[in-house]
Amino acid sequence: MELIEKPEAVRRRARMPDYARARRTFTWAGARAQMSGLPGGRGLNIAHEAVDRHATGRGDAVALRVLSRDGAVDEVTYAELRRRTDRFANALRALGVARGERVFTLLPRTLDLYVVALGTLKAGCVLSPLFSAFGPEPVAQRLRLGEGRVLATTPRLYERRVRPQRADLPDLRHVLLTGDPAEGPDDGEEGCSALQHLLDAAEDGFTIPPTDPEDPALLHFTSGTTGRPKGAVHVHEAAVAHHATATAALDLGPDDVFWCTADPGWVTGTSYGIVAPLTHGATLLVDERDFDAERWYDVLAEQRVTVWYTAPTALRMLARHGAEAAHRRDLSALRHVASVGEPLNAEVVRWSAEVLGTPVHDNWWQTETGAIMISNFAGEDIRPGSMGRPLPGIEATVLERGPDGRALRTGGGVREVTTPGVDGELALRVGWPSLFRGYLHEDERYRASFADGWYLTGDVVRRDADGWYWFAGRADDVIKTAGHLVGPFEVESVLMAHPAVAEAAVIGKPDPVAGELVKAFVTLRPGWWPSDALHDELIAFARRRLGSVAPKELVVDPHLPHTRSGKILRRLLKARELGLPEGDLSTVETS
Ligand code: ATP
Ligand code: MG
Repeated sequence: MELIEKPEAVRRRARMPDYARARRTFTWAGARAQMSGLPGGRGLNIAHEAVDRHATGRGDAVALRVLSRDGAVDEVTYAELRRRTDRFANALRALGVARGERVFTLLPRTLDLYVVALGTLKAGCVLSPLFSAFGPEPVAQRLRLGEGRVLATTPRLYERRVRPQRADLPDLRHVLLTGDPAEGPDDGEEGCSALQHLLDAAEDGFTIPPTDPEDPALLHFTSGTTGRPKGAVHVHEAAVAHHATATAALDLGPDDVFWCTADPGWVTGTSYGIVAPLTHGATLLVDERDFDAERWYDVLAEQRVTVWYTAPTALRMLARHGAEAAHRRDLSALRHVASVGEPLNAEVVRWSAEVLGTPVHDNWWQTETGAIMISNFAGEDIRPGSMGRPLPGIEATVLERGPDGRALRTGGGVREVTTPGVDGELALRVGWPSLFRGYLHEDERYRASFADGWYLTGDVVRRDADGWYWFAGRADDVIKTAGHLVGPFEVESVLMAHPAVAEAAVIGKPDPVAGELVKAFVTLRPGWWPSDALHDELIAFARRRLGSVAPKELVVDPHLPHTRSGKILRRLLKARELGLPEGDLSTVETS
């Protein structure tokens, strides 16, 4: 079994170096005890854990370091973040927004977003962050589904994305506009107010109301990879899991400079792009701009980032950009790199060990799980291509699948796969704090996600004899060809091992003989061009490694469709291939 060793210096500093010991000794009660709780035993509130608890004692520490579009770097201390979020919470009160009501954000990654998000949680309202590149229909759809009472956005986004749908949003009472008050509609028009005016008028100092750990805190829409996005509800207690998993999987602590490249419009950008780094008292980098390989290397080097959380697509793009850009810079501060959202090909792990100086730790989780569940543990060596093992406090298993591809439910309940290497649906034993508490307005679907005390994830995995998990594909994506079950990830990883291939997506195409045949779509690296010879070479390359499950068809496609959160949309490739309706496209990356 291939192992990539952590550099010795890195391993020595790891906060949780011993997996077996951590699993033995960890309890959720112990993790809960690490939270400070609201003063006077008044419960648990995410914003208190993230901001106020540090504002006294470590108030001068830098909470946010904002890299603005214009190149300026602004630092906000925990004390200052407390003052600002207090004011925003008071502003919500002054508007008459009640606890439990939903506050949406449609904001770029500027300081306002973080102030609104944390101030909303302080006030006991539910935060629902939307990705700022959503078009008018996806925005309206989510605001309607979530009965948004308040929306914080920019005047420009309001004009383009919200105003056209304003009449269809009767629940939306208040629109808070960031930026220069002179640029938006006048205060009062269509329920709009300038955020700046509200903050100016608000008082300093806010006492967080008693918060039951089970009070709803966050409403997150899934990425829409398999269909219409679902609204997953999370509660304040989730912070316990955000905090604990950040120690175990990200090796995060108070002296870190942490950069999470996910936008808070996705669950990663909230759980680990807002909450966990702040509950740890770390310095969170906020980068207002989008991906650019050279600039990202600059950020890593110049900001002395110590822990970096990113996604496979970004890493693949960096790899495509060439190693020279990394070698030109001083990345010595970088101690830990982790990735989530899509399978991480072994190829990328090897690349990162060599080029970034530390191997990327894959980790697996979902909007529904609220926090990292399975990972290549922070202090230990990595099995490239594996998602890792369940974190302390998490019990995972593999369930036998039925004809519909999902866990088989017989009269006697579900059945666990005990033979190593046999695939099945990944399931998690219910009982960790950040498990979602419902799909908004979809109770039946929520109930159907559980069986016999397990949460069923919809992903197909294999577990090896040592207990490491290997991703095969989503239950909907797994291909059945001539009696073999093929996980698209396996085939994609093999194709990516060829020097010409930058990215690959594999689907099952109905075939009268084989049931389905494996069809691959690939994007080429710079310097490679599509040709018949390359086509044949790639198929032969895959065939040598995979045998009969290698792709029978392969096309070079320079634009594989992705979700805005960076996932390849295999369902869209398949729909196009079959001439079927394309389904919900609200989260498709358009640029
Ligand atoms: P939807 O549920 O709307 O179809 P989605 O499942 O992509 O969208 P998310 O909750 O953002 O929405 O993504 C979780 C999914 O992403 C997982 O179920 C899994 O399929 C995939 N995923 C996340 N991390 C990994 C990983 N490390 N390896 C493989 N797949 C991963
Ligand atoms: Mg999903």
